[in-house]
Amino acid sequence: MNSQTFLNWMDGRWVAGATVVANRNPSDTDDLIGHYAQATSAQVQGAIGAAVIAQPVWAATGLEKRHDVLRAIGDELIARSQELGRELSREEGKTLAEGVGEVYRSGQFFHYFAAEVLRQLGGKADSVRPGVEIDIQREPLGVIGVITPWNFPMATASWKIAPALAFGNAVLFKPANLTPGSAWALTEIISRQALPAGTFNLLMGDGASVGNALAASRSVNGISFTGSVDTGRRIAAVAAPNLIKLQMEMGSKNALVVLDDADIDLAVECAFQGAYSGTGQKCTASSRLIVTHAVHRTFVERLTAKLRSVKVGRALDDGVQMGPVVDGRQLDQNLQYIEIGKREGARLVIGGEHLTQPERAYCMSPALFDEGRNDMQLNRDEVFGPIACVIPVRDYDEALTVSNDTEFGLTAGVVTQSLRHATHFRRHAQAGCVMVNLPTAGTDYHVPFGGRKSSSYGPREQGPNAAEFYTTLKTSYTRA
Ligand code: NAD
Repeated sequence: MNSQTFLNWMDGRWVAGATVVANRNPSDTDDLIGHYAQATSAQVQGAIGAAVIAQPVWAATGLEKRHDVLRAIGDELIARSQELGRELSREEGKTLAEGVGEVYRSGQFFHYFAAEVLRQLGGKADSVRPGVEIDIQREPLGVIGVITPWNFPMATASWKIAPALAFGNAVLFKPANLTPGSAWALTEIISRQALPAGTFNLLMGDGASVGNALAASRSVNGISFTGSVDTGRRIAAVAAPNLIKLQMEMGSKNALVVLDDADIDLAVECAFQGAYSGTGQKCTASSRLIVTHAVHRTFVERLTAKLRSVKVGRALDDGVQMGPVVDGRQLDQNLQYIEIGKREGARLVIGGEHLTQPERAYCMSPALFDEGRNDMQLNRDEVFGPIACVIPVRDYDEALTVSNDTEFGLTAGVVTQSLRHATHFRRHAQAGCVMVNLPTAGTDYHVPFGGRKSSSYGPREQGPNAAEFYTTLKTSYTRA
């Protein structure tokens, strides 16, 4: 049994906590991955103080040095993506291919932002007052709290930490307690870089203490958070009195619309990838499948056949296409939603059962409901599991209305061969990311990512827009 204890990283040192949490493999709960230190409140305050001191030192480090540090982190993540991807899948439960892909993608975020270090160009303007020149320049925001969820434990951290460091900020990283191993592995790589002590800190611990302390601190200049809407609201309430900058990506209830003229095999593939990859535990997952009457029956039949053939099992086993859900609490919640859906009158076509094989794993069969209505709780709440519901509709107009009828607005997709409908949907879908003939899950790393309505708050993440959050503008006037 592995009982190694992994420590926090603060002010350039590995530090034990007052307590630890055990990290167990959701594919085999007998597999203890390790124990992870929990930061005390005094340690959190100490790390914040160290970050405040380190940040201007890091910001004054030359561009080339900052570029090289980010580049090296990206190189190592990519070179070790097989090994680290395996560990990621072991603790989170996504398949090996998904785990390896996530670590590789994390490396790409560091490479992208390494290049952005060298692309920090300011602006110039003439003043309305003759003889006065104006310079417009971006400066680091300062000390950033990075608070992340468990479902993309390496990628979410990377798409926040890479731009934070690239633009000269110090980072206090609070990962989810369900997946501390990936956070620790990323930290271990960063810890070997020549960063001034205190520039980057790992503060493992629970949200209500460590996360809350970051959001409530007057010395933290911004919080970049990804997680649930409830937690986002709590963070906003605690951070608001200090007027600190927030960037928050939260829950979702994404729709994939399938129209009469869709290529049905493509629609089934998009629904399958969108709703069930990552065991459905994606903020971009399409849990509402809005299908017009003419293709409804064929679509449901083919998607059901596809789901019947899916191999569910331990994340690291050969041939497994869907791993377990992340823990027992999430499994119970998923099974409750199966009951809620049935009670509400949706027809369970396939799946939705806790699998007894493999043993000691939180595995469930992917579930598909049909004959759903958009006002059912099943179709209003974010479930965050391998459960999707078909909502039959008359035509495109009704499909668009139903797609937009949600408190969320992260992604939305349409499968159609009609240029007119595709174009109209792109313009009128109330979502931050719109996909045409593609799954709702799966985005690129060099362009903005984020949502609308309750899914998102504050500036966009990723791509060139990341500068909006991680920097602040200075406008300087000079009389020559
Ligand atoms: P969560 O909100 O429970 O936790 C997210 C993080 O916030 C964790 O690190 C947690 O410890 C911390 N936290 C909890 N309470 C806190 C508090 N009071 N103050 C500060 N921090 C606190 O979310 P989760 O269960 O880890 O992840 C699933 C959720 O994340 C889903 O709602 C999903 O949609 C969302 N998500 C969104 C995106 C996106 O980009 N929109 C991406 C991935 C996941």
